[in-house]
Amino acid sequence: MEPTIGSGLNTAVERYYDITLDLYEDLWGEHVHHGFWDPGEVPGPDGADRHAATDRLVRELVDYAAVPAGSRVLDVGCGIGGPALHLAGALGCTVEGVTLSARQAARANEKARAAGVAERARFHQLDALGTGYPDESFGVVWALESLMHIADRQGFFAEALRLLGPGGTLAVATWSVRDGELDEDERELVRQILLHQVMPDFSSLEEHERLARAAGFTDVATVDWSGAVANSWDPGFAQIREFERGPAAMRDLARERGVDVLGFFHAGPLMKKGFDTGVITYGALRATKPRPDSRPER
Ligand code: SAH
Repeated sequence: MEPTIGSGLNTAVERYYDITLDLYEDLWGEHVHHGFWDPGEVPGPDGADRHAATDRLVRELVDYAAVPAGSRVLDVGCGIGGPALHLAGALGCTVEGVTLSARQAARANEKARAAGVAERARFHQLDALGTGYPDESFGVVWALESLMHIADRQGFFAEALRLLGPGGTLAVATWSVRDGELDEDERELVRQILLHQVMPDFSSLEEHERLARAAGFTDVATVDWSGAVANSWDPGFAQIREFERGPAAMRDLARERGVDVLGFFHAGPLMKKGFDTGVITYGALRATKPRPDSRPER
């Protein structure tokens, strides 16, 4: 992989997903993102509910951003391909997925072959800000829970605009932070989450909207899904076996893989507190690349 700006961060993110691939897959299956529930809906304790909820989040983002069937899609931060396989399967899209982790890309390609969509879903180890695809290569740029890892968010929106054809669709879902000043306790909670999840900082949903408009997108809108996804961190639901097996198992894992693997386990209670107190938020953003003859949005 070519070294790019921010490569220190990229190396840490790459490593994090390399060393946690099996942990995420055991717990969440092929989706490395939150689940989505109706208001008041209580998640069932078993894995089937977990998978139904993560599948649903993908469908919710497809609907919210109105991703057209059959599109050519760039999946920014594709994980092990769960969302891309839905886009390539049910929606008939052609997807190029990029991730910093070579192990994730290999696993995603394996899954695409097994699902019989390898022709339409290909995965590569590439930095989303340096993919080298020509201008206007895609009808959709899709970024599901990857933007938090990208320090240059302004650069992300500029690159998404460059890669989209006229009228193309940007679909983002991301962890975010409440808009406005945070107090000291809130800042400390956010700091711990960032540290454990290898993220440089969070932007508010409002800030994402501003950045998308400043980059030149039109029809920019966001929706706050904090209430719909927060169940993902229910202690009974996001049960993590290593914790149950006790400190010895955690210590062994840290010894084998490095202490940064522990971030996977620490995120749960911190994120729960973040959602409970309202400092952590979560939302989706949709936007359109204007056609040359359309008037700029005011
Ligand atoms: N979208 C997937 C994975 C989310 S996990 C899913 O929903 O299942 C976050 C992903 O973002 C990881 O695959 C990580 O490698 C990727 N990522 C983070 N920063 C990136 C960057 N600069 N370029 C490409 N991928 C990146």
